[in-house]
Amino acid sequence: MAAAKLEYIWLDGYKPTQSLRSKTKIEKDFSGKLEDCPLWSFDGSSTEQAPGGSSDCILKPVFIAIDPQRKDGYLVMCEVLDSTGAPHESNGRALIQDDDNDFWFGFEQEYFLWDPETNKPLGFPASGYPAPQGPYYCSVGAKNAYGRDIVEEHLDACLEAGLNVEGINAEVAAGQWEFQIFAKGAKEAGDQIWVARYLLERIGESYDVAINWHCKPLGQLDWNGSGMHANFSNTTLRTAGKKEIYDVILEAFRPVVAEHIAVYGADNDQRLTGKHETASIHDYSYGVSDRGASIRIPLYTVQKGWNGYLEDRRPNSAADPYKVAAVIIKTVKSAKV
Ligand code: ADP
Ligand code: MN
Ligand code: MN
Ligand code: MN
Repeated sequence: MAAAKLEYIWLDGYKPTQSLRSKTKIEKDFSGKLEDCPLWSFDGSSTEQAPGGSSDCILKPVFIAIDPQRKDGYLVMCEVLDSTGAPHESNGRALIQDDDNDFWFGFEQEYFLWDPETNKPLGFPASGYPAPQGPYYCSVGAKNAYGRDIVEEHLDACLEAGLNVEGINAEVAAGQWEFQIFAKGAKEAGDQIWVARYLLERIGESYDVAINWHCKPLGQLDWNGSGMHANFSNTTLRTAGKKEIYDVILEAFRPVVAEHIAVYGADNDQRLTGKHETASIHDYSYGVSDRGASIRIPLYTVQKGWNGYLEDRRPNSAADPYKVAAVIIKTVKSAKV
C-alpha cells in the first residue's frame, strides 16, 4: 500500500485562545485505524507548552478522519500529554467526564471570512461599510452573500471526511457564516468541531482568505458578533417528561456563571451585551424560545413534553468546545434531579 500521510492536529498553549497546529507523519502500510496511529512528539517550547530545556510534548491520537484534500491522507486529532504522559494543562479534552457518551452536543459554529489585506470581512469595502445588517442572514445573490465558494468547498470537505455536519447558513453580518455539527458523545463533538475548523482554515489558504474566530471582530458597531451556541442533552433531559426536572437543571447553572464564562471564549464581555440576540454577561436567565436568554429552552423540547435538549447561547466562536462541554457536563451532573 502507498505511504499514508497522517496530519497530526493539536491545540497549542497560547492564552487565552488556543490555536490549531499540525504536522505530517508518513506511515507505510497504514490500516486507516485510530489504534494504528502511533504516539508522536513535538517541540512544546515553540507552542508555549514546555520550556526549551525540556521541550518534548506527546501527541496522543484520539480521533481519525479521511483527509479529503490529500491523496492517501488522514486527519488525526490528538490530545497533548506532558513528558510524563499526563494530560497537559492545555488539554481541555481530558477534562470531559462523559465516558458512556450519554451527553449529546450540537455546536453552532459562527465565524467571519476575513480579507487579510483590508483587515475586514469579505463584502466590506476597503474604506467605509456595506449596507447595514438585515439582508445578509440566509441570503442569496452577489449583493449580499460573500464567500460562498469557500463555504461550499468546506461543507463538501467535512462531509467527505465523515464529519456529522447538520447544516450551514449565511449569518447576520456581511461575510459571516455558520456550520452546525452534532455528535453523540462530548469528546467526539469537540473532535469534530476542531477538525472542521482545521479544514476551514486550510481551505481559506487557497483563497487567501483568513478565518476570524474572534467573537466581536467589528467592535461595538452595529454588527453581530460570533457565537458557538452549545446545544446539549443527556438521558435525563431527553426523557424528563416534566418541566420541574428542567427547572432543577437550569437552576444548577445559576451559581456557577463565572466558572462557565471563564471557558466560554475570550473577550465575551464585548459580545454578551444584551444586544444582538445575546444576554448580558453579568446576568443568568433562561426561557422557552428566548434568544435573549443565557440558556434557551427550544420550543421543540416543550412540544415533545419536556423531552429534548437545551441551548446555552453564551459560548463564543473562539471557545474550545472541549472546555465548554466539560463545564456543562459538570454542572448538569451536579443538579439534584
Ligand atoms: P438555531 O439556529 O435555531 O439555534 P440550529 O438548527 O442552528 O438552531 O442548531 C440546533 C442544534 O441543536 C443542531 O446542531 C442540533 O444537532 C442540535 N440538537 C438537536 N437535538 C439535540 C439533542 N437532543 N441534544 C443535543 N443537541 C441537539
Ligand atoms: Mn443556528
Ligand atoms: Mn447562528
Ligand atoms: Mn442557536
